[in-house]
Formats: sequence, structure tokens, C-alpha cells
Amino acid sequence: MQVLVLNSGSSSIKYRLFDDSLTLLASGLVERIGEPSGRAVHRRHDGETTEAIEEAVFADHAAGFHSLIAALEQGGLGEDLGAIGHRVVHGGEEFVAPSLIDDEVVARIRAQVPLAPLHNPANLTGIEVAAGLRPELPQVAVFDTAFHGTLPPRAYRYALPTELYREHGVRRYGFHGTSHAFVARRTAAHLDRPLDELDLITLHLGNGASATAISGGRSIDTSMGLTPLEGLVMGTRCGDLDPAVLLHLHRQAGYDLDQIDAILNRSSGLLGLCGENDLRAIDRRARDGDADAELALEVYTYRIRKYLGAYTAALGGLDAVVFTAGVGENQPGVRARVCDDLEVLGIRLDAAANAAADVGAAPGGVVAIHAPDARVAVLVVATDEEREIAEQTLQALGGAG
Ligand code: ADP
Repeated sequence: MQVLVLNSGSSSIKYRLFDDSLTLLASGLVERIGEPSGRAVHRRHDGETTEAIEEAVFADHAAGFHSLIAALEQGGLGEDLGAIGHRVVHGGEEFVAPSLIDDEVVARIRAQVPLAPLHNPANLTGIEVAAGLRPELPQVAVFDTAFHGTLPPRAYRYALPTELYREHGVRRYGFHGTSHAFVARRTAAHLDRPLDELDLITLHLGNGASATAISGGRSIDTSMGLTPLEGLVMGTRCGDLDPAVLLHLHRQAGYDLDQIDAILNRSSGLLGLCGENDLRAIDRRARDGDADAELALEVYTYRIRKYLGAYTAALGGLDAVVFTAGVGENQPGVRARVCDDLEVLGIRLDAAANAAADVGAAPGGVVAIHAPDARVAVLVVATDEEREIAEQTLQALGGAG
């Protein structure tokens, strides 16, 4: 049986097809859906990767879905399709596990839209299109928030009036859950220790970024909050901020709510600090002596270091720190700055191992970069959110995985 994993955005559908032993068979994306000129990239993975690019108009998500199904069929794939797993960003307090989709589940996901007005509607569109066109297939929703369903109230409650929590769901939910869960399991396998004995801090550093404290396999604190804006410095998002900054921007500087939203989410973070958000370019500029790029790197890595200290205290111990996602996996300079002079936490890198780490080529997608006698393991782990969604989809159906 094959499992199709869909990640539906407002104008795109990303997909991956796995077999039931979680081997990747095909992947791709349809983008610029609903725009005058769309594009699809379809890849087939059978030993080597072959790629086909389709320039066409995709009027809606249904057209995009047809394109990807046609591409699978042309590649001799998809006949054995047994399930579809959907990434859904926000499950609120409703969903702490993957859910087999029916009308009631769709209604409950829809009820979470106020918590994720940009993401959940697009995820729902993907679900409705796939369910409408392939009604015979079981479909499973896998939530970015679900892994953090184990947070205790002391970590998820904000010190705001209780009615704001009760009536409006204002609390910390956390995101990137599939990634944090995936790399935590990989870490336990690599260390050859049971996950339920380990205290871990996982750092998902992509365009969005979050840190999670994981005790015995359970998320006990995480840096993203009601929305993915809180916590670490990100590509274009500010992360932690004095909430009075918003009031100041509105009252003293005259910005309206939409402008403030755009500033905090789209023109802050690394972009706001130095004019760009690609860590590769920022790293180059910093090495060439650019002061803004250097400051951006310092603010970015200092914030992560503060979370390492805080989460070590929250966990009451630390066995491993895990770097993952685009920046975490590929930027040794960031990892070195984060881990510099942290012997107080038991963290010490092996500089050569860090510089040479090539997680793409490593067995199991894991490279250890700590000094041999360090108390805490520091690992670079290749994340794979789609594989995790495929695995959780199979588990929800009671199958292999
Ligand atoms: P997203 O959150 O959009 O999935 P990614 O996990 O792909 O993002 O991370 C994007 C960031 O990772 C960018 O800042 C980019 O500079 C960095 N990055 C991605 N790939 C590489 C690479 N091969 N080498 C260095 N940095 C990379």
C-alpha cells in the first residue's frame, strides 16, 4: 500500500508518496494555484531521481490535485494508493493525535480556523479536494500542534486573565510538532537509549524556528505560542517581544493592526535586522565584516542560547541537543555560535566534526558533533516531516509503520 502526504498551502500543494515501509517513491509540488501562470514539479525516486516540470494554469486546488495524480500515474505509481495523510497546522486543544477524517473531524478542524486563519483554511481545502476526488481512500489529519498536547499548564498558560484562555483559547500551543517528534526518535535510536529515559532539547531552525524541551519523549515546553510568532528569531518573524511594543507602534507611531501584523511576521527576524533572511548569505556577509549581518547572527544565536539554558532548567537535566531543519542541518557556523562556551550545561563541540557534518550523507541522517568527553550529546539530525506524517497516517489506520 502507498501513502500520499499532502501539505496544502493557499496557492500550493506539496506532496510526497511513500510505500508502507516508508520508502520515498515520488515527490513534488504544484505552485501558483489560481494565478495566471502555474508550475508543477514532479519527481520520481527509484534509485535515481527524475524530474518533470509542467508549466500550466491551475485554476484551483482540484486542478493541482489532478496534476499530481496524473504525474504519479504516468510514473506507474499511485495504483496501490491506500491512504492520504494531510498536514494540518493548528489542531487547537481538540487534536492531540492524528485523526481519521470524516465530516465531524472537518468541522472540528474548521472550528480551529480563528487560531490559524492563514493556514487551516488552505489545509482544509486540500482535505476537501482530496476527499471529494478520491472518496474511497481513508484520509488522516496530522497536526503540527499535536506533539505539544503534553505541555503542562505551567508551560502553556500565559499570565493573562483566565477568561481569555477559556473563551478565546489564548494559550501556548506550539508548532513543528512532527519535526520535533521525528528527530527525538532518531536521537534515541542513534544514542541507542530508550526515548523515555532522555531529556532532549530539539532546535528546529528553518525559516520558521522553534525549540522544544522533551522529557521521556513528551514535549514539556516549546518556544512557539498561540501562533508561530513567539520564541526564537526566525527568517522574517521577530520571536519573543515585549507585547507593549505593539501598543507603542499603534499609539505612538500610528501603525494599524494589519501593518503591525505584517511587520512582526514578514519584515522582522533576520530580514529586519540585516535586510535578508537566507542564513547562507548572512554568514558570508558576516565573515566579510558586515556589521548588520554580524548583529543578526548574534541576536539569532543568543536567543537560542537563552532557550538552551531555560529548557535545561525546565527539564532538570540534559542528555542531548539536536539541530535540525535548513539552518540547523547546514550551518556549522550557527551551531558553533550556539554551543560556544556552554560547558556549564555540559555542551562542548568537536569543531572538526561540526565543520564536516554532512547529514545528507550520514547513515540514518544523524551526525554527532560533540567532543568525545562532553557530558551532553550534540547531534545534527535530518528532519523529515512528511515521512513522520506518513508514519502517523499508517499508525492511525492501524497499519505498519
Ligand atoms: P522552511 O522553514 O521554509 O521549511 P528550511 O528548513 O528549508 O525552511 O530552512 C530555510 C533556511 O535554511 C534558510 O535560511 C537557508 O539559508 C537555510 N538553508 C537551507 N538549505 C541550506 C543549505 N544547503 N546550506 C545552508 N543553509 C541552508
